[in-house]
Amino acid sequence: MHELIIIGSGPIGCYLGQLLKKRGVSPVLIEEHKELGKPIHCAGLVGRKVFEETHIPLSSDCIINTINGAVIHLEDDVMHIRRKEVAYVIDREKFDKKLGENLTIHFETKFLGLEKEGARYIVETDKGDFEADTVIGADGAKSLVREFVSPNHMSYLKGVQFRMECKPHYSDMVEVYIEKPHFYWIIPEANNRIRIGVLSQTPYHDLLNFIKERKLEGTILEKFAGMVPLTHFAPISKERIFLIGDSASQLKPLTYGGIYMGMRGAEMLAECIARRDLAAYSPLWTKRFGRELGMALKARELFFRLTDDDVRRIFAFVKKRVAIIEERGDFENHASLVWEFLKDPGTSKEILNILFKIIKASLPNGL
Ligand SMILES: Cc1cc2nc3c(=O)[nH]c(=O)nc-3n(C[C@H](O)[C@H](O)[C@H](O)COP(=O)(O)OP(=O)(O)OC[C@H]3O[C@@H](n4cnc5c(N)ncnc54)[C@H](O)[C@@H]3O)c2cc1C
Repeated sequence: MHELIIIGSGPIGCYLGQLLKKRGVSPVLIEEHKELGKPIHCAGLVGRKVFEETHIPLSSDCIINTINGAVIHLEDDVMHIRRKEVAYVIDREKFDKKLGENLTIHFETKFLGLEKEGARYIVETDKGDFEADTVIGADGAKSLVREFVSPNHMSYLKGVQFRMECKPHYSDMVEVYIEKPHFYWIIPEANNRIRIGVLSQTPYHDLLNFIKERKLEGTILEKFAGMVPLTHFAPISKERIFLIGDSASQLKPLTYGGIYMGMRGAEMLAECIARRDLAAYSPLWTKRFGRELGMALKARELFFRLTDDDVRRIFAFVKKRVAIIEERGDFENHASLVWEFLKDPGTSKEILNILFKIIKASLPNGL
């Protein structure tokens, strides 16, 4: 009988495990793979705040490059956004392994289902049953634990990324190519290596085409694939079952980064467990991030409905005001930038109309 079982030892399950240990709770983790950090399904780009706001020390050993801005391409137009040390390129395998140090993890154990027996849960795995009074689903985008919490239909995007031996155009800037409805990223590692990828419905095909069209040459060293959940839902808990990280869709719908948000989710849950106020977790999450995530999802939907001309106009508008992003942009909260642009005295009527469309689409029906 264990007090608390965490299904999944990705970065968010392990981070929660460490936070709980710090508070005197010793969770048991169940992990289907045989080691931490493998297979990788992540571009490994994290904002500086991941390291600044963490509640446990994170080793800087896993940082392999420092990013000082982004170069955004739209057709033949290009915009440079310079922000010193805005993000890091990390070695996800090292990052995950460090987070999992000294935790009790049952590797090569696949979670299969849950049964409630009185006040306890029987956690069924392919290595036998475990008993617990609290179960936490940190089992990623295709979470099985989620099925015991939420009947919501989930939508996903598939991602593919290649690691390539190829000299990047910029050694400390991330390149983003907007090709509606998606965007491609090129992230420079050190030593003439890049991570290049896309999330779409047909990512492998799209990425190969992109590489061919852009005439990017170099050896492909590794290929990764993964999924991101796009549906935000609440509640993210039921009785004594809780979801965190990708299983709870705790990730940014515009750029699909999940590590920062998942860590905030884990902190909230650890705090609620420590206070023995488990019912507070889901409302707390919704209160802190629900609106922001809802707006970002709406903005995403609207982006698909914008005409190519609208997108060009927004791009030109933002390009002229790059200083606003450089001074006030928040890598982890994109919605706040819309307000910064609105406050700009040079905001033309035309752009106001497009921004108005975005804001209107983000409000509840009827407003
Ligand atoms: C292509 C791509 C690029 C991305 N790039 C970035 C990025 O640059 N920056 C960023 O912040 N985020 C990025 N993300 C998102 C990021 O990878 C996730 O948000 C993050 O990994 C979530 O961590 P997690 O611990 O919630 O889930 P996961 O990392 O998915 O971990 C879940 C764990 O649960 C285990 N598991 C699953 N099912 C079971 C089961 N039935 N039994 C036992 N164990 C199970 C898995 O093996 C895994 O170890 C990207 C995602 C994709 C797909």
